[in-house]
Amino acid sequence: MSDIDRILIVGGGPVGTVTGLRLAQHGIPVTLFDRLDKPAEDHRAATLQPSTLDLFAPLGLTDELIRQGLKSTLFQWRDRATHEVVAEFDYGYLENDTAFPFVVQLEQHKTVYTVLAAAAKLPKFNLIRPVDVTEVSEGPDWVEAKVQHPDGDTEVHRGRWMIGCDGGRSVVRKAMDVSFDGFTWPERFNIVTTTRDLEQAMGFRLRNYCAHPERWVSLMKVPGENFEGLWRCVFPAKNEETDDEVMSDAWIAARFAECLSGAGQCEIVHRNMYNVHQRVAGSFAKGRMALAGDSAHINNPIGGMGMNSGFQDGLNLADKLAAIWHGADSEPLLARYDRQRRLTAIEYVQAQSIANKKTLEERDPKVREANLDNLRRMAANPAAHRDFVLRGSLLAMLRKSEQIE
Ligand SMILES: Cc1cc2nc3c(=O)[nH]c(=O)nc-3n(C[C@H](O)[C@H](O)[C@H](O)COP(=O)(O)OP(=O)(O)OC[C@H]3O[C@@H](n4cnc5c(N)ncnc54)[C@H](O)[C@@H]3O)c2cc1C
Repeated sequence: MSDIDRILIVGGGPVGTVTGLRLAQHGIPVTLFDRLDKPAEDHRAATLQPSTLDLFAPLGLTDELIRQGLKSTLFQWRDRATHEVVAEFDYGYLENDTAFPFVVQLEQHKTVYTVLAAAAKLPKFNLIRPVDVTEVSEGPDWVEAKVQHPDGDTEVHRGRWMIGCDGGRSVVRKAMDVSFDGFTWPERFNIVTTTRDLEQAMGFRLRNYCAHPERWVSLMKVPGENFEGLWRCVFPAKNEETDDEVMSDAWIAARFAECLSGAGQCEIVHRNMYNVHQRVAGSFAKGRMALAGDSAHINNPIGGMGMNSGFQDGLNLADKLAAIWHGADSEPLLARYDRQRRLTAIEYVQAQSIANKKTLEERDPKVREANLDNLRRMAANPAAHRDFVLRGSLLAMLRKSEQIE
């Protein structure tokens, strides 16, 4: 076997590391590149869905993630205008659908560290960091990544296949020359973290969505460093509000006063503002390159689906590349990967995350009441309740993807 007999992965975030782990478990040499010297701790994904816990069990990750995280079966929808709990949904309805009928609340970087600890035991897993992948290309039976070290030195790595797990601005997607169709929401989101226990103060569950036509809020609990518990609160900013205003103590205090007035004094330990997009790549595989995770699709965070669906991509792709590695015809397998994951990204993650956001922010009083009524009805009807959590948990997406030939 020559040194070129390996798979290159650009991006060592959650999706890249899990995909690399799976390939190395298949016995395939894999080299990952990441521009950061360690996993980013930037307050992104907080929720591991049951679909992910099922997929991770054979990789040997699930027990450890459960040990580190907070288990939760319930999530709430509230009407922020009246503080009424409109509906409470229970993943317990999934007891016959999954071995893990609950979510695990865990900071994204802890998931990545857990994957890296498992991968460190596999000699075929090689992560090079910090290096920036500046150019990628492919020939008839090889791929190439040009990488730049922090001191400016460059080198070229070759492999047989390349996976872009390099996030929304993917260099791999750009080299594949595929579109990234969709749109950017006009408003920005501010994610603010407090140490105040909102479960104790206001009866929230570990995941909550509070609808309001002007100022909705989504609330999640994560473990924090020693299980002391931290609460992440996502607020939308109005278009006319400047970045400086939105990041100010006064703006945050005003949001807490109107959205969480029952919580008393809240100490703020982190804040971060970001733009929100809904986009899906025109193709997930082309030639010797393929995309998984945010490089292939991005969505708003309401519902906790982006990273979880990215894991489904990465594991699906790793198993197909393993079959190709051992002699299967690449074209039909990669075309099926594209069909399975692209269609379901649109039908499940894009559709559900957009619907969730619209329900949260609806301004028309009649539509708003109809939406909230719909949530009440689904929560009260066992079959509809199960269908709703089957979609939210991404188990429905996983099943649909497996059915696509
Ligand atoms: C506020 C917020 C909350 C969220 N909550 C959830 C949630 O609860 N559940 C959920 O499922 N999803 C959630 N998401 C989405 C989730 O964070 C992303 O879907 C996830 O990070 C995607 O993982 P990834 O590995 O595909 O990409 P990324 O996490 O973006 O990782 C890409 C990696 O590639 C590296 N990289 C990029 N370009 C290069 C290059 N040229 N050279 C070398 N390295 C490169 C980066 O350094 C990075 O490490 C949330 C997102 C936000 C913003």
